[in-house]
Amino acid sequence: MNFQHTPEQELLRKAVREFAEQEIAPLVEKMERTDEVPLELIKKMGVQGYLGVTAPVEEGGAGLGHLARMILLEEVGRVSAAMSMSLQCLQFGAGCVLEFGSAEQKKKYARGLAKGKLLAAAAVTEASGGSDPAGMASEAADQGDHYLLNGRKVFITNSHIADLAVVIAKTKDEPKKEFSAFIVEKGTPGFRPGRAEKKIGFHGCVTGELVLENCRVPKENLLGEEGQGLAIALKGINDYGRTGIVGVALGLMQASLEAAVKFAGERILYGRPISNLPSVHFRIAEIYADLEASRLMAYRAAWLLDQKQRADTEIAAAKFFATEAALRCARKAMDIHGAYGCMHGYNVERYCRDAQLLIPADGTNDIQRVVVGRNLTARKK
Ligand SMILES: Cc1cc2nc3c(=O)[nH]c(=O)nc-3n(C[C@H](O)[C@H](O)[C@H](O)COP(=O)(O)OP(=O)(O)OC[C@H]3O[C@@H](n4cnc5c(N)ncnc54)[C@H](O)[C@@H]3O)c2cc1C
Repeated sequence: MNFQHTPEQELLRKAVREFAEQEIAPLVEKMERTDEVPLELIKKMGVQGYLGVTAPVEEGGAGLGHLARMILLEEVGRVSAAMSMSLQCLQFGAGCVLEFGSAEQKKKYARGLAKGKLLAAAAVTEASGGSDPAGMASEAADQGDHYLLNGRKVFITNSHIADLAVVIAKTKDEPKKEFSAFIVEKGTPGFRPGRAEKKIGFHGCVTGELVLENCRVPKENLLGEEGQGLAIALKGINDYGRTGIVGVALGLMQASLEAAVKFAGERILYGRPISNLPSVHFRIAEIYADLEASRLMAYRAAWLLDQKQRADTEIAAAKFFATEAALRCARKAMDIHGAYGCMHGYNVERYCRDAQLLIPADGTNDIQRVVVGRNLTARKK
């Protein structure tokens, strides 16, 4: 078993760490305060090739694979979980286009998506409940040369900055419900962002509604085959969404560990740093163990994807373990900070708020447990 990253992956980690510290860190305070999306920064990440890290070289990407993407999201997430979240969702939208797009669609969109000239959202969830995608009400009526889309998507990351969205809508009710995926471009009449949510965390990463009102989508914007919508959504959620969330969680845990160690070394009580207290050692040890366990699960799941092996069980397990671990780690880092941990400006309370948002995103952790439990019991039969 080889636990060593390739020289390419190590170089990527180093380069992203530098980028995150130089370009992202100075913007974090403003993002927290204003909740404004730093669009220029996202464009810069596009120029760096971060949006297209998994996209094939011939499509304008870096072709570095899912393990490299995990490292990228971890390093961005260490500085800003909001930017890591935004980035991973853009890769999710783009990933659907790349994996299921026709030659013409890839020609039209792939390079722009890989370089951040085009930003893609993935719009699946509706108010009827994200855990029950078959219950979604958005419809796409076949009108001959186009589809007419009506519906409202909720909790969509990058809703207000996206140039296009991969939208899932119902194309058949009888005898069986069927869903299809569509590429809907910004500016299409009848397509607009709705309410932008006020979230507890991820400030600077917009989450909101996408509204479709008699929106005419040309036939050539059907993604994949008619009826393939749920399969496209599930593949995107599995390979890009959940793995992306795990990458964000790793970044939050690394940040929590570093903040805990730093504060423990600086805070003087009884004439000595609190880093001498056993209670502080225990918390730091627990944060470290959670981070290391999550990393092993995360890297293995990403590696399996890179080997083109089935990884849904491993990804779901990593998603619920790493996100809950990120919340535990942020809480422990807060505890080490005493009252300072509850004050804005010490970052650890931000890590806590951001970590909580990872629990429902891309399928709640109950749903991850359902996936793991169902797969393991089915395999035994
Ligand atoms: C920060 C953030 C970003 C997001 N970004 C996007 C995005 O870009 N695109 C997108 O399409 N969606 C996005 N979502 C939506 C997300 O995918 C949904 O929130 C998620 O699928 C859960 O849906 P829900 O919130 O409607 O909860 P519900 O489905 O209503 O669930 C409610 C409760 O019931 C439980 N539950 C439901 N079914 C089961 C079951 N079978 N077994 C056990 N318990 C169950 C859930 O675990 C939960 O506790 C985002 C969400 C967040 C928080």
